[in-house]
Amino acid sequence: MVGAGFKPALTKALIMKHINTDPSRIKEVLAKSLEMQVLNLTEVSALLALEDKDLWMETLDTSRRVKEKVYGKRIVLFAPLYLSNECTNDCLYCGFRTGNRDARRKTLSVDEAVQEAKLLSGRGYKRLLLVASEHTKLAGIDYIEKVVRAIYENTDIRILHANAAPMSVEDFKRLKGSGIGVYQCFQETYHIPTYRHMHPTGPKSDYAWRLNAMDRAIEAGFEDVGMGVLLGLYDWRWEVGALIAHSKRLISKYGFGPHTLSVPRLQPAQGSQITNSRYMVSDDDFKKIVAIYRLALPYVGVVISTREPAGLRDELLSIGASQISAGSKTSPSGYLHDGDTEQFEIGDTRGLEEIIGRIVSLGLMPSLCTACYREGRSGETFRHLAEGETIKNFCHENAVLSLKEYMEDCASDEVKEQLRKLLDAEFTKSANGLAERFKLIEKGKRDIHI
Ligand code: SAM
Ligand code: SF4
Repeated sequence: MVGAGFKPALTKALIMKHINTDPSRIKEVLAKSLEMQVLNLTEVSALLALEDKDLWMETLDTSRRVKEKVYGKRIVLFAPLYLSNECTNDCLYCGFRTGNRDARRKTLSVDEAVQEAKLLSGRGYKRLLLVASEHTKLAGIDYIEKVVRAIYENTDIRILHANAAPMSVEDFKRLKGSGIGVYQCFQETYHIPTYRHMHPTGPKSDYAWRLNAMDRAIEAGFEDVGMGVLLGLYDWRWEVGALIAHSKRLISKYGFGPHTLSVPRLQPAQGSQITNSRYMVSDDDFKKIVAIYRLALPYVGVVISTREPAGLRDELLSIGASQISAGSKTSPSGYLHDGDTEQFEIGDTRGLEEIIGRIVSLGLMPSLCTACYREGRSGETFRHLAEGETIKNFCHENAVLSLKEYMEDCASDEVKEQLRKLLDAEFTKSANGLAERFKLIEKGKRDIHI
């Protein structure tokens, strides 16, 4: 199983020296992506090696067009819910690492996790990402299973995803069985010497165990997996090429690859050992990375977290991103008390409502929809619907219905007015019974979706 046929096929030298980045070649690559085709590694290399500023402008705009062909205007919103910061690993970059002696440690009780989820549901969230450190005894599968079941039973949260340490196939089966939609895990770095340096002790020091986590998750029944590299640990071109190579290997083996790609970028963290990485990624390169993921794998969701500052996040919404977290806290019980050690510093501190208002003012469509995972539109089925440019029809209608609910239940007067205008316009355009469903929502019916 180790390595299982996957070797990062690109090296920095190969990317930078021998790749054809003539305008005509780049335009061919962009045209292929606009036809919803997954790019091959030579084409990805052309984008990674591209330097010309005008061509980059065209590339970023094509990325927006590809996103809109797949997902339309909709931007999905969610929040992370941190369960524990007690960790048996010593990842040098993370505030939760075992070597951070100053950390205030906390694992939420099942009841506290439910309280946090209730609070978030009261703010309008329907989708949460559970985030756990790696601690088999305190935050292992027995605990996660209990938390997931309790949140579904006691709150209005409709879908839970999980970012947790790699597991055995047996444990992944339990995770899937508990009702988790997407299993997410970042390789952090594909560069083995860097990986070894960054993860000196603990279970995470096993590179291959992490590399093969997605195969085990898929074997256990997960059809939606989320992947990423932690940008800032090693050369971004190499890492982005390797992540796309890994994704393509999953596609050829299973018929589907990652459901989402995330772009976590190294942030300052209390207790981190990494203060000044020579591989830090600039904002301009960060935008390129978002565009390259979008163009290389047109069907995937590209997720931007609140690590990034507000202005940059707003720009990325028009460059190819399709999902963003909002109003996040990165410490366990951060929503209720804001006291324990956080994983890293937040760049965008706006709450859900402010971000919804901003998305609307950018001419985009905020969405609190959770339908696909619950209606079986996952894995290969999802990929075909997305590449066939059909998924956006589901997305648009469900976004509108989710906003109508949000408007009825949570919005302040100011955002209500903004949403009323948006929904009136949708109502006028719609020829498919929106009136009846709006009335049902006004009467108190919830979770109407297609
Ligand atoms: N503990 C599990 C693990 O490491 O896979 C899952 C959760 S971990 C809390 C989520 C992710 O946060 C990590 O995979 C890493 O990419 C990211 N992360 C850790 N420290 C960070 C930092 N200082 N800045 C930005 N992202 C960070
Ligand atoms: Fe623990 Fe994850 Fe942080 Fe590493 S990144 S120290 S495994 S919480």
